[in-house]
This record gives sequence, C-alpha cells and structure tokens, in this order.
Amino acid sequence: MKKFDKRLLMIPMVLITTVIVVVMLIRSTKAFEVLLDDKPIGIVESQAVFGNLVESIRKNAENRYGTEIMISNKIDYKEVYLPDNKRVINVYSPASLSELEQSVALKAKVFVINVDGKDIAIFRDKATAEGILERVKAPYVENAGDGVVTTFAENVSIIERVVASGELNMLSDPDEVYSSITKENEAIRKYVVQKGDTVSEIAEKLGVRQKDIEKANPDLNIDRISIGQELSLSVPRYLINIKQSIVKEYEDSVPYDVSYEESDELYKGNTEVKVEGVEGKKTVKAELISINGIPEETRVLSEVVTVEPKAAIVLKGTKPRPRTLAYGVFNWPSRGSITSRFGARWGEQHSGIDIAAPKGSPNKAADGGVVKFAGWSGNYGKLVIIDHENGYTTYYGHNNTIKVKVGQRVARGDVIGTVGETGRATGPHLHFEVRKNGVPVNPLKYIN
Ligand SMILES: [Zn+2]
Repeated sequence: MKKFDKRLLMIPMVLITTVIVVVMLIRSTKAFEVLLDDKPIGIVESQAVFGNLVESIRKNAENRYGTEIMISNKIDYKEVYLPDNKRVINVYSPASLSELEQSVALKAKVFVINVDGKDIAIFRDKATAEGILERVKAPYVENAGDGVVTTFAENVSIIERVVASGELNMLSDPDEVYSSITKENEAIRKYVVQKGDTVSEIAEKLGVRQKDIEKANPDLNIDRISIGQELSLSVPRYLINIKQSIVKEYEDSVPYDVSYEESDELYKGNTEVKVEGVEGKKTVKAELISINGIPEETRVLSEVVTVEPKAAIVLKGTKPRPRTLAYGVFNWPSRGSITSRFGARWGEQHSGIDIAAPKGSPNKAADGGVVKFAGWSGNYGKLVIIDHENGYTTYYGHNNTIKVKVGQRVARGDVIGTVGETGRATGPHLHFEVRKNGVPVNPLKYIN
C-alpha cells in the first residue's frame, strides 16, 4: 500500500477551518467593549446603550443633588465580535448598574468664597456667594461719603470649582457664613487702668503696641487716662475686613527751623527769641485708609509747599550767671509727700501745697532771689518769703527754724529754714506757695 501522504490531510483541514471561520464571522455580532478610564468594564451592543446608561446615572444624581452634575471619567469603546450564540445586548444587570454608579465619577460645579487662598464657604451658585459678600460690605458702602472706595482688606474672590458630588453634602448655609464672617474673630482684650498707669507702660506691660491701643480707643486722649477706665487692647478683626480709602487734598502747616545765636548780653541758661519763626503751608495729597471704619493709615502721595516757613533765631546767653538769679522755673523746696493740694479745702481756699517731712529737714529756695520776709506771720508761723524779681514770689510756712535774713540773696537750692509745725499746723510740714504778681497760683504747675 502506498504510504498515505499526510500532507493531503492539510487540504481538508485548512478548508474546514476556513469554512468555520467564515461561518463564525458571518454568524457573529459586532459589539463594543467599554473602557472606563482605560479599564475594560463590560461589553455593550452599542455605544448609545452605554451612553444612555451613563446619562441616566447623571440625571438621577442631578435630581438627588439639585444641581448640574458632570461625569468626568474618560469613556472609550473598542469594537469586538461575539459569537452569535453568546450574543450580549447589555451586560448591565441591576446589580452591575449600581456597580457602575460607584465607578462613575460624578462631579459638580460649585462656587467657593476664597479668602487669602483659603476656601471659607462653598455654594451651589455664584449669586449666593456674591450676595453674602455684598451683605458684608453693605453697611460700610451705605455710610461711605463721596469718593470713598470700599473693598476688602483681604484678597477675597469667588472661585468656580469642580468637586466630587459627595462634597455637595458640605454646602454652606448662607446665614451661618455671614455670621462667621462678621463675628469678631478674637475676643477683644480689655484692661482696667490702675493707679500710676500710662498708655505706654500698659502697652509694654501687656506686650501690645501703643499704636494699637490708640487705634482701638479712637476717643481716647492718651495723656488723660484715669484709674478704673476700661481700655480695649486691640481693634476688632474679622474673617473678612473692610478696607476703605479716599484720596484727599488738604492744607497742612510746615514747621519752622530754629537756629541759635550766642549773646553775651544774656545770662548763661537764659534764652531770648530774636526772630519769631513762622510756620509755612503745604498742600498735601494723601490716601486715607481705614479698616472697618477705624483710621488705619495715611499714605502721603504728594506734598507741595505753598508758603515756605521762616526760621526762628533764638539767642543763648553766655554772660556768667549770678548764683542767686532766678531761672523762672521752680525746684521742689522740700522732700516729702504732698498731703494737701492747692485749691478748695474744707470750705476754704488753700493757697499753696503742703509737703509733709520730718521735723528739722531742710526747706530750700525753689529758685534764686532775695529774701523779702523772714519771721513770724500768724497762721504761717515762722515764714520766709523770697522775691524772685521776675513777678514771682514764693512762701515757705511753718518753719521750725529760719536760716536767712531779710535782704539776703539766695540761690536755688539754698537752705532757708527747717521743717516744723509753727503757726496753724497739725504736724511737721512745709506750706509752700507760689504767687504770681501777688496772686497765689497752683505750685504744681510751676515746679519742674
Ligand atoms: Zn498749707
């Protein structure tokens, strides 16, 4: 028997295979594999089937969240051929549908209020965000005069963002946002003025700037604080602060320079104006800036001097000064505490001040001059009067002993007597008077 040629078998095999392939191709169906973000997730009959499916998921979400929803996944389709008997019209069963809902990325457009790079509120629509910012600004805009520009001190913007739909559960409540913006963001610290306080000492003690205390208390005269007065230590600040600015032109004075000339006709330590200085005038253009209605800063934009100031010339004495010549300013005549001040006292007028000191301690001339009286004088007891030869006289009452005689010249600081309680006195003290042209004045205003 002739050996069977195996190669002959190849012919029918190829033929059969070809037939099978042709039959399969004819009887197979074209379908589409869906790629969600490049990941195959199933096969559908047509692109429209999947498109509708996704659209219905989107629509459901829109109904649920009440706002426009987008789907951000990348969706691709790949053509595939399926055998007829395994024809797949739609791979999506209700179970796989919910799976699809999970894998689809639902996004929504929102509007955030951003303050200096930080989102502080999130809204579905821009109008709500704008409305809140307008509401914050409104009271300032209403009260602003002509030319005032009202803005925010911070960098405030409304930014459109696309977020995962889940974040829509975090939408802000407009009223709550308004309250949080307009609530003072730190409790204003208060301070009650104590005895002996000055504003600069308070600032140093509490570690705040004096400038801030002044700003926080716009009606305060910083040289006149009183015990028990309550001071704010900081100006109120909010999540968003209102900045207002206006450019103004106004006239201001220009201070004059003072130059000095020596004069041997004047005593050393004395001065005399030779030429009066005259202030000049300038036109200032400045931007006045306030924060939350409180003046914050003045930025000078330009200055034009319209009237030049005229310098003053002051003569300075060089002539040797007699020891006993008055300076015109008084030193303390005694060391001690003031037990009685000038003015009304027990229905009487107290014509000087009382300085309590131990008996025998020195009473000193408050300024140079000539002793006009030294002796007993009724209620004053042992009294010394010094004429300062400049319209002023000083009185030293209740001396224990008197150390000067009438007509004697005394220098500032010379001992003229000792503290006692002669005359009408309830304890050792110096009764000290300053008289200007014979009329008692408050010594505390003249003592240096
Ligand atoms: Zn007195």
